[in-house]
Amino acid sequence: MVKERPSNALSVDVEDYFHVSAFRHSVTRADWEKLPPRVEQNTDRLIGLFEHHSVKATFFVLGWVAEKYPNLVRRIVDNGHEVACHGYSHALIYQQNRATFFQETVRAKAILEEQAQQPVIGYRAASWSVTAESLWALDILSEVGFQYDSSIFPVRRDIYGVPDSPRDIHQRKTSSGLLTEFPPATVPMFGRNLPVGGGGYFRLYPYAFTRAALRRAGKIGTRRFIFYIHPWEIDTEQPRLAAGLKSRFRHYLNLSRCERRLGRLLSDFRFDTARNVLTELGYLDIPGKTSMVTSYDAVAREQQTTARTNRLKKTAEPLQARAGLRGERG
Ligand SMILES: [Zn+2]
Repeated sequence: MVKERPSNALSVDVEDYFHVSAFRHSVTRADWEKLPPRVEQNTDRLIGLFEHHSVKATFFVLGWVAEKYPNLVRRIVDNGHEVACHGYSHALIYQQNRATFFQETVRAKAILEEQAQQPVIGYRAASWSVTAESLWALDILSEVGFQYDSSIFPVRRDIYGVPDSPRDIHQRKTSSGLLTEFPPATVPMFGRNLPVGGGGYFRLYPYAFTRAALRRAGKIGTRRFIFYIHPWEIDTEQPRLAAGLKSRFRHYLNLSRCERRLGRLLSDFRFDTARNVLTELGYLDIPGKTSMVTSYDAVAREQQTTARTNRLKKTAEPLQARAGLRGERG
């Protein structure tokens, strides 16, 4: 079958099954160290699947995961994919203050860049938590050197969404210059935006519906869609966690069908990294965008000073302690 052209963006949020917000009330931060890890093997399986279909993707990696599995980012890069940032601790942005968000973001970016040995320019918030209350986060993302964000879901949901935000790729003014926003795929239906770009929605709808919707999402004007999936979504063997009915429905629905469906999607559409798609459309100026390099240098300088170790330690310890106390935010 001839694949749809041109390329859309394929993305993976690299986190483990116990990080997801659906379990934030039942899994504490201390539990993360005790639960059997699955993220490394599941991410490798996705890398293998993408290789089989000759597609490149953007992996938004959680800083916590990168720290725990220091070779994973390298494998992602060595396979030709883009490494981007999914924050450090999967804390929802609108539940953080600016200082905490700044520290978490710089920490995650520095870990990922050290492992990838290249600038990390893309960001996606835990559970799409850039909402009307946390749009200030975009200023910080731009300030620390991100060139694009993919965190604003133009829908209305219980824990995320900015329903009137543009559905298409667009640029936003921040206090540190322009930041490109690449919203997850939606299609307008019955006067609102229907999410069709991956995750639980991909597992919920019949594949034929998703395909038709994504064809529509990718066809209008110069639109390209971005699709997202999590490593745990192809893992039928993951331990079952206790949670409310709604959370369990969200997390476990159709896991057994997901990998096969994903294979069909990869056959039916052309995919590339978000960075390549945005570059092709002229949204990014790569390599060597000065604003990115300058602010990245500023961050790097700050970390390399004598204060580096102390500062990171001072930042990390209370953060970890707080996260442990407020483990339900994981
Ligand atoms: Zn996530």
